[in-house]
Amino acid sequence: MDRRKFLKSAGLGAAAAGTIAAPAIAQSMPEVKWRLASSFPKALDTIFGAAEVMAKRVAALTDNKFQIRAFAGGEIVPPFQVLDACQNATVELGHTASYYYIGKDPTFAFDTAVPFGLNYRQMNAWIINGGGLQLLREFFKEYNVYNIPSGNTGTQMGGWFRKEIKTVEDLKGLKMRIGGFAGQVLTKLGVVPQQIPGGDIYPALEKGTIDAAEWVGPYDDEKLGFQKVAKYYYYPGWWEGGPMLSTYVNMKAWESLPAAYQNALEVACAESNTWMMAKYDAGNPAALRRLIAGGAILRPFTREVMQACYNAANELYEETNAKNPKFKKIFDSYMSFRNDQISWFRVAEASYDSFLSAAVRPAAGGGAPKGQTKKG
Ligand code: CA
Repeated sequence: MDRRKFLKSAGLGAAAAGTIAAPAIAQSMPEVKWRLASSFPKALDTIFGAAEVMAKRVAALTDNKFQIRAFAGGEIVPPFQVLDACQNATVELGHTASYYYIGKDPTFAFDTAVPFGLNYRQMNAWIINGGGLQLLREFFKEYNVYNIPSGNTGTQMGGWFRKEIKTVEDLKGLKMRIGGFAGQVLTKLGVVPQQIPGGDIYPALEKGTIDAAEWVGPYDDEKLGFQKVAKYYYYPGWWEGGPMLSTYVNMKAWESLPAAYQNALEVACAESNTWMMAKYDAGNPAALRRLIAGGAILRPFTREVMQACYNAANELYEETNAKNPKFKKIFDSYMSFRNDQISWFRVAEASYDSFLSAAVRPAAGGGAPKGQTKKG
């Protein structure tokens, strides 16, 4: 039924709607102005941009009554203090990657990504229809935060290396900019992980203070220019199969919102979740071609290296499960969901993708990135 017919049959003329409904709406739609602290710089128009997309939609859904202003990392609080800022109500909202907070509890990693974990599709399935969000919200409650999924980068690249990594031996003593749980996995294989903010990676690679660095994927990596100082561009980033970003809402602030605003926020975050992935997917192919034209050499991690990392990750999971029951509770749900997903994805999705990867590449101009070896 169209709107005119609806109004007519409901006995509401335009005049009646104006005089009766407006005051009721005004009462239920108070002016709310919130500040959002992002962990990311404005230059990253995907990962920072998602917060702006969300804020714009919230305003549009509430007749501009609920306004959110997004601040870049460092503007209100440092990038890695977004959780504290939301917990303590320094800001009402944050937009961040939860694995930045594994120093407080490694369980946070499940809200973003863990090594050899879920890809973007599977993460959404676990979060939305696999019980994942309920488990994570139970965990976040202890930090006085209401968490809402809002963004994903898709499977990341393995990063930039000054030298080729042909065997597991080549990892020994390698100084790599890589954070969190993945850093702990690689430590088992002799890598020396380094924590370096985005802006300082380039000079560290250039001087040889570090041998390798991971960031995100072609679209973001290109902005930092790594191909000039570390030409081997490895894939896949097995530690980030489908890392999710989250919006944090201070719990009291969340509870103070009218239900309609809570709904607007949840819907706008769902939109930003899709928008971010779509922006990365749309931008990555051309960015990868430009990187290769600029000197990057694509290399897959060998099967041997991948397997050694997989084994080391499983070892770390066993150790963490043994000493952290909160971690184990979510791990059990997450990993049994992953295994179940793989049993399905290997059938239709993987065979479809692998057929097209082989079939399209040699023929179509858009298939093989320029400069890539035919075998590669
Ligand atoms: Ca990364």
